[in-house]
Amino acid sequence: MSQKILMQADYLLKWGEDLEIIPQGELVIEGGIISYSGPACERNEEFARVIKGNNKLIMPGFVNTHTHAAMSLFRGYADDMPLKEWLEQRIWPVEAKLTKEDIYWGTLLAICEMIRGGTTCFADMYFYMEEAAKACLESGIRASLSQGLVGLDPVKGIASLEEGKKLVRNWHGEGEGRITTMLGPHAPYTCPPDYLQKVAKTAGALQVPIHIHLAETRGEVEESVKMYGKRPVELMEQIGLLDQKVLAAHCVHLTQEEIQIMARKKTAVAHNPGSNLKLGSGIAPLAELLQNGVLVSLGTDSAASNNNLDMVEEMRLATLLPKGLREDPTLIPAVEALKLVTVNGARALFLEEGIGTLNEGSKADLIMIKLNSSHLHPLHSVPAQLVYAALSSDIELVMVNGTILMEKGDLKTVDEERILFETGKISSRLVS
Ligand SMILES: [Zn+2]
Repeated sequence: MSQKILMQADYLLKWGEDLEIIPQGELVIEGGIISYSGPACERNEEFARVIKGNNKLIMPGFVNTHTHAAMSLFRGYADDMPLKEWLEQRIWPVEAKLTKEDIYWGTLLAICEMIRGGTTCFADMYFYMEEAAKACLESGIRASLSQGLVGLDPVKGIASLEEGKKLVRNWHGEGEGRITTMLGPHAPYTCPPDYLQKVAKTAGALQVPIHIHLAETRGEVEESVKMYGKRPVELMEQIGLLDQKVLAAHCVHLTQEEIQIMARKKTAVAHNPGSNLKLGSGIAPLAELLQNGVLVSLGTDSAASNNNLDMVEEMRLATLLPKGLREDPTLIPAVEALKLVTVNGARALFLEEGIGTLNEGSKADLIMIKLNSSHLHPLHSVPAQLVYAALSSDIELVMVNGTILMEKGDLKTVDEERILFETGKISSRLVS
């Protein structure tokens, strides 16, 4: 359990109804929970630690709602290829060689990068997820984990669903609640409708959400129409999957009707602009989704398709793309972009209320950003500076659940040198 900490900064950003920016703000953190969040005031009590953030800003940590952490092992291994070829010819063959231990080290590699970039929570879908859970437990990061399920072969499909259930039973709520779980049917094109119905029923019984890839490419939509006479989102509604809590990654190719289905069903979206651009999948209709009341958050997807896990970069892409596409600079203003990467992220993972807000009573998952750099000077607008000018390297301190995971470049809970050494060995073996 963490000690009582006082943190002060030139600006404190938190979410009430809207974004609140408090000049000379401070937080008191006790046992991982924020007990005071507001303007700095006179204090006589003793603190185990006082962190004075002159020329700094405190804000909620980033929530990366879609990634495959251990795929960081494949960063730069296969690029400039269409999704189908990229998966079938390059990624699936090397994935077949992955061992449990590889997943543990690969996940830690991603966690090092995410902590450095201010990500305090992420949603991961992959396999051997108990190894990923161990990596999350040790590193102190918050995560929502799902075993990737493929249902093309009925026998293997049931076995993988059992693995998914085991992850939920063994890990949901571990690490003082930092680790939560979902069921992760990979996609409608790898999980037939009857299998997805089984997954939905299981998710309902276990009371966990579902994390799925949906409507990522034009080819996926065409195939769905050919096989089932329905587009992916329509099909998911028809078979009842969207009656569960669902986090849908990508959602690039949607009709107006599908956007309305998602709004009505309260389906959460993980928008992954970087990965969608790099794989040439297209650009998701972010402005239209938000205008129709769909909950949208941001994800990086894996480092094999992005090729980094940088939420600052993702946030900038998310806000710039709709402006350029629709020739309308008023779309996705800076404050809205900040919402996508913080409070919306926590909601999209169906986490308890309060994560991502920095309000009193919420979890102390936060980042401190250094402001006195030439590229952040002068400071006319805090949100504009963060979204349009800041770099993830401006992040100086990262805290999850009241524990400092990174301070002034030092990772406090993981041995980065060892992780780089182990993952270097593993990635050479995998591609040999
Ligand atoms: Zn993905």
